[in-house]
Amino acid sequence: MRPSAIRPALACPLCHHDLAGANGADLSCHGCGRTYPALPGGRWDFRPGPGETIRYERRYSPADYAKALQAPLGMERPSVPPRNDFGDSVPVHLTPAQVSYLPAARPGQVAVDLGCGHGEQRSVLERLGYACWAIDYEGGEADDLVDAHLIPLRDGAVDLVMSIAVLEHLADPVRAASEVARVLKPGGAFIGTVAFLEPFHDNSFFHCSHLGVSWILNMGGFEVEAITPIPSWDVVRAQIEMEVGAMGRPAQTMARVLSAPFVWALEGYGAIGRRVARSRQRYERSLLRARHAGAFFFVSRRAGRHDAEPARRDR
Ligand SMILES: [Zn+2]
Repeated sequence: MRPSAIRPALACPLCHHDLAGANGADLSCHGCGRTYPALPGGRWDFRPGPGETIRYERRYSPADYAKALQAPLGMERPSVPPRNDFGDSVPVHLTPAQVSYLPAARPGQVAVDLGCGHGEQRSVLERLGYACWAIDYEGGEADDLVDAHLIPLRDGAVDLVMSIAVLEHLADPVRAASEVARVLKPGGAFIGTVAFLEPFHDNSFFHCSHLGVSWILNMGGFEVEAITPIPSWDVVRAQIEMEVGAMGRPAQTMARVLSAPFVWALEGYGAIGRRVARSRQRYERSLLRARHAGAFFFVSRRAGRHDAEPARRDR
């Protein structure tokens, strides 16, 4: 269910003006006059219509390019110190080490699960003390229906945004990252995962190398703290498990069994390379894993201090 803190933070996704309307009724924009319909069950549909076109600026500079090339790639390890005392079991698509990077909420803080899918992340965010607003483009688990390129929130409205396996499904992931930065408070964290060598799935557009993740986050306005290949989710396992996923548990077992020799060979090859190769950096463990990763985990932070300074537009 949509947390009560969200209603006052809502804004027109296209013009960012206030929205008039009560819970359960259509919302209308004071600025552009658009209407966002209430769906059966009280959810709002903030997605733009098929006739809408939005325009926005893009930029490129060699300095930005160089910054992405310096992506902070590493092996997955828990945050030191841990940022919360989460001790429960973690849902599918997350590992305990990944969860250790989620900052514990202060009273009243709000987290967005952007592209919530089946909603598995909600229990984690609520356990950390957040009011959780779970949104997605479609699906029954979302509190409201939202297009990630056009998030219907005021600037600086929320404290944390999580997106698990979402960026690869977006037509313009840089635009979506900019939107996430806009709606986060300065210093707010954007944490998630994105596909790399998974097979094409569910209308996926852009599968990202670690440099791609770094580029998207940098261009969106984020300082990137960590990018890590998701352990035990190598290209072989990801391809097999997602290709024959309808088989359920047998597919998972088959994927693990078939990927194990690949991973062992890779580890051995890497160990030899680090010992004898002229260019040893090529065999560094995280880079070796990154070349064969099914997906990446990322931790980033919106530039600026995290305090009560008034929200303003980044660009
Ligand atoms: Zn509007």
